[in-house]
Amino acid sequence: MFNDTVAFAGQSGIGRQQVDAAELSDPDLFWDRDAIIRWLRVRGAEQESLFAAARSARERVYGRGVVVRGLIEVTNLCRVNCEFCPMRRDNTKHNTIFQLTPEQILEVVAEIKSAGINIVFFQAGEVGKTTRLVGDLIPEVYARFDSPVEVLLCLGNKTDAEFDFLKKQGATSYILKHETSDPELNERMRHSSFEDRVRCLRTLVQMGFKVGTGAIVGLPGQSVESLAADLELARDIGAHMVSGSPFIPAPDTPLAGSPGGDVELTLNFIAIARLMNPAWLIPSVSALERRQGGGQLNGLAAGANVLTVNFTPPVEQEKYLIYGKDRYVVRNDHVTEIVRQAGLERTQSVFAA
Ligand code: SF4
Repeated sequence: MFNDTVAFAGQSGIGRQQVDAAELSDPDLFWDRDAIIRWLRVRGAEQESLFAAARSARERVYGRGVVVRGLIEVTNLCRVNCEFCPMRRDNTKHNTIFQLTPEQILEVVAEIKSAGINIVFFQAGEVGKTTRLVGDLIPEVYARFDSPVEVLLCLGNKTDAEFDFLKKQGATSYILKHETSDPELNERMRHSSFEDRVRCLRTLVQMGFKVGTGAIVGLPGQSVESLAADLELARDIGAHMVSGSPFIPAPDTPLAGSPGGDVELTLNFIAIARLMNPAWLIPSVSALERRQGGGQLNGLAAGANVLTVNFTPPVEQEKYLIYGKDRYVVRNDHVTEIVRQAGLERTQSVFAA
């Protein structure tokens, strides 16, 4: 099922233009907005050519390695009111709110280390208190690893002083998805300033974080042109990591009745991102698996090179309703299996120090 705007450009074939697979060998191809749009729309043999080119580009930079992260969801409390998210502020009263204790967090860190993963990925709703809760624990994370480790954060917008504190505590990297580069749609979907979001991204880059951003593919009212602009924005701010995630119409949200995002379009977004910048870390996200069984394997086939294993304690995991109660929770053995099926190998952080 497609939302109308994206379906027009995608599956229906209406408005599709001719593409020439030979142009995929041009490293400058995706500096051209029209080319991005043309290739976002491809299906069939043309799409297979796009994916093959993306896999070759990935192999040139990363060989067969797929970077594996270990995720800890710290709290489901959030001050933002995104239309697409069940953890939105308006749901705070009827959601069961949790916040992990420092002891619980350090137990999870130990599990991540035991699994041979050296990226400790802290994620939470956007609330001020995560700055101290996570920041104060970062030196302890380094102490628990006696080898290089990456501390990756996804804690929402913060002040410059908070980002600076987290950097000084040892945070390596920060993911702050812009969700959509269409300013009007962004503010309608997030009820928050798009300009502030981009300012935070630029600040993170200037402070020396390895920075990730990303877009939701298939938001109601989104155009294919704005998906091209999403990729250009990631390039313009100097991001190191970029994601494309299909829109999930989650329960208990104003968008619950909307059609979900198109997996094929999301895969094209991933492949074009890989060709725009072969060095980008690009995840094959759990939302792909949620939309379509085998979705994360397809993400790897489209050029993605990152997978995230969820280590949040199961009781709290059930309360982290990012896509609703039936989200797909990625386990370590699932990651091992799809990496094997893709003919690739698990690998560690490329940013760890
Ligand atoms: S998507 Fe993130 S910022 Fe938006 S409501 Fe959900 S947790 Fe909060």
